Amino acid sequence: MIKFLDLYQINQNHREDLVTAFERVLDSGWYIMGKELTKFEEEFANYCGVKYCIGVANGLDALILIIKAYKELGVFKDGDEILVPSNTYIASILAISANNLNPILVEPDINTYNIDPARIESLITNKTVAILPVHLYGQLCDMDAITEIAKKHNLKVIEDCAQSHGATDLIGRKAGNLGDAAGFSFYPGKNLGALGDAGAITTSDSKLAETLRALLNYGSHVKYQNKFKGINSRLDELQAALLSVKLEKLDEETEYKRKIAETYLREIKNPAIILPNVKNSAAHVWHLFVIRTENRAGLQDYLAQNGVQTVIHYPIPPHKQLAYKEWNDLSFPISENIHDHVLSLPISPVLSPEDVAEIIAIINKW
Ligand SMILES: *Cc1c(COP(=O)(O)O)cnc(C)c1O
Repeated sequence: MIKFLDLYQINQNHREDLVTAFERVLDSGWYIMGKELTKFEEEFANYCGVKYCIGVANGLDALILIIKAYKELGVFKDGDEILVPSNTYIASILAISANNLNPILVEPDINTYNIDPARIESLITNKTVAILPVHLYGQLCDMDAITEIAKKHNLKVIEDCAQSHGATDLIGRKAGNLGDAAGFSFYPGKNLGALGDAGAITTSDSKLAETLRALLNYGSHVKYQNKFKGINSRLDELQAALLSVKLEKLDEETEYKRKIAETYLREIKNPAIILPNVKNSAAHVWHLFVIRTENRAGLQDYLAQNGVQTVIHYPIPPHKQLAYKEWNDLSFPISENIHDHVLSLPISPVLSPEDVAEIIAIINKW
């Protein structure tokens, strides 16, 4: 069986350094808000090219806290609207609802699966305060077009970078540095994955960063003094130390995944399969390699019978979820088409060239 994602093997590749980091934290006697967190925050800010990185407990909290901070700063208020892609993972949308703002769904471009800038402007109202682009599956959105619209209408741009660590635009700017603030997830299966839950916010806005630092720690800048009704969403020393280890190898692992993606793109020749579109190689970090096909269930069963595990990202669009009953009767045909036909093939830093060749041969025989 070729696994969709072999997390055991992925982390075994870093075993020695992870164990060293674990022992260092264990023996430090200091487990929350210490040197390891500061070190990782500096490293990740440098990596993304921003002034500040703020570690948090997970990717959803990262997005929730950014919006909450803009509320505390008086930039957003209850009932305001944020434009978000209709085919994203539901977390991007939950972050808006959790703050009592209204998510406004925007259909994606069927070729890139990312929010379609051409559909944004007609949805802007006098309540719109932000655009929340999601670099889905690891490929950057059209940030030039999005930034231009945001500037024109005085909107904030909040990037959801949970799937796009290290994705780089044509002038060398990285995901996390392409808007006003960005949320990252380090969930174990993400391109930069912790050994548990973890996340971060990146921004170059000092006021926002300062507010976020308090909000994630009970709303407190000074111990036992609470300026805001905050939450506890700290990134602990252990995960920070482990993430520092894995960040060192992130670019190498991404390059390896790019090679796999190039091989799939070059050698999958089955006319029943629609391959992903790549605009520029650096702008895609291949969190997922997502194909589309009319008979998805047939292909998934066939691959399983032939020993290849695949996953659907995602089977139900957000507007059809019970959590958003109020949207269940709305129609987002592009998203529905995507959710009905996408299938993710194995791609990872530990998928061997032999496995890739085997997967391609099996698919081409279908
Ligand atoms: C994983 C993910 C999140 C949430 O991250 P968690 O760390 O699981 O909370 C948010 N947005 C997108 C697009 C994701 O893929």
